[in-house]
Amino acid sequence: MTANLLDYDLEGLAAFCEQLGEKRFRATQLFRWIHQRGAARFSDMSDLARSLREKLAGCAEVVAPPVLSQHLSGDGTIKWLFDVGDGNAVEAVFIPEDDRGTLCVSSQAGCAVGCRFCSTGHQGFSRNLRVSEIIGQLWFAEHFLRRHLARSDRVISNVVMMGMGEPLQNYQPLVQSLRVMLDDHAYGLSRRRVTVSTSGVVPKIDRLALDCPVALAVSLHAPNDMLRDNLVPLNRTYPLQELLAACQRYLVHAPRDFITFEYCMLDGVNDTAEHAAALVALVQAHGGGRTWCKFNLIPFNPFPASGLLRSSASAVVAFARVLTDAGIVTTVRKTRGDDIDAACGQLAGDVMDRTAVGKRIAKQRSISITPLRTVPGAHLTGDLK
Ligand code: SAH
Ligand code: SF4
Repeated sequence: MTANLLDYDLEGLAAFCEQLGEKRFRATQLFRWIHQRGAARFSDMSDLARSLREKLAGCAEVVAPPVLSQHLSGDGTIKWLFDVGDGNAVEAVFIPEDDRGTLCVSSQAGCAVGCRFCSTGHQGFSRNLRVSEIIGQLWFAEHFLRRHLARSDRVISNVVMMGMGEPLQNYQPLVQSLRVMLDDHAYGLSRRRVTVSTSGVVPKIDRLALDCPVALAVSLHAPNDMLRDNLVPLNRTYPLQELLAACQRYLVHAPRDFITFEYCMLDGVNDTAEHAAALVALVQAHGGGRTWCKFNLIPFNPFPASGLLRSSASAVVAFARVLTDAGIVTTVRKTRGDDIDAACGQLAGDVMDRTAVGKRIAKQRSISITPLRTVPGAHLTGDLK
């Protein structure tokens, strides 16, 4: 069977090399060719012995999921739809900013958590992504962007596991993928610049703290269990007190001294001054008087099947005010890429059942990717339209 080398972290690649009768240090060379240089063909890996290149060509490959489509937003955001087989597609979104380039990565095809306000949740769960499918999103995006921006240095400086799926419900492949992101022989991202976002899988938060403590974002969305049970069904298994206690334990290992709470602003559902005050009381009851969390308010991105509406701008401002007045750093997330359905919770378009995705894939297979116009050395925003 052909091994896809994107499935391995450095340790796994070293074991693979040993199986081939090669020295472990060859794995480091190979790993650098693949992840730092974006090489997919063994014949290009000029400092590997010809005998090894030939051996690899016979038993291994470097393959990311095929790109079905690419959309460029007016604000420079780029969304890619990847075919992961059997009619399933997942998305990655690149968000350029002045001081960083962030890639939003998917961890599952669909999601089993089923949050009411999330289009992925409405799709249901198809399957977990393999390491090659998670890291393949970064591998493809980073090297695609370098080529198209004619850059030799790193383009993607931050990764957020905020695409489709609940990363902590695909734990082992997630951790292996994170290790590749952090490895100095691969992408060399700092632990502070890699964020796992979770709806609150408490036992896995504890494991992540030990296995690979990157920055943590927790999707809170409600200040009490009754409302959160309704919005995020996983709350029935891991209620708020347990979740916040897990956040405190995580902080001991975290690369930053705070947890980010995401809060999707839903009109009339969770966005009143009373909700904000209850939220302040909730977080202040933990952390022993320290400020230990930040809030990121996300204006809801509507989709028809949700039956929910976005909070008004004034409700968002008033809500943020209550939190900041209590000394909690609060930001309101700018909606990026909503003209191409790349905003949070809009991934893979409107809620599509899997047959519809399958049809779309069949239709798009024959279409080539729209080439981006490239201005050498140009900054992405504004120049690639
Ligand atoms: N499953 C993980 C990560 C993916 S979702 C999680 O839930 O944290 C990433 C973020 O987008 C989460 O905070 C999620 O609550 C939010 N989100 C989902 N659907 C949304 C929507 N329609 N509008 C705004 N934010 C949404
Ligand atoms: Fe899954 Fe996150 Fe969407 Fe909830 S918000 S359904 S956990 S992807």
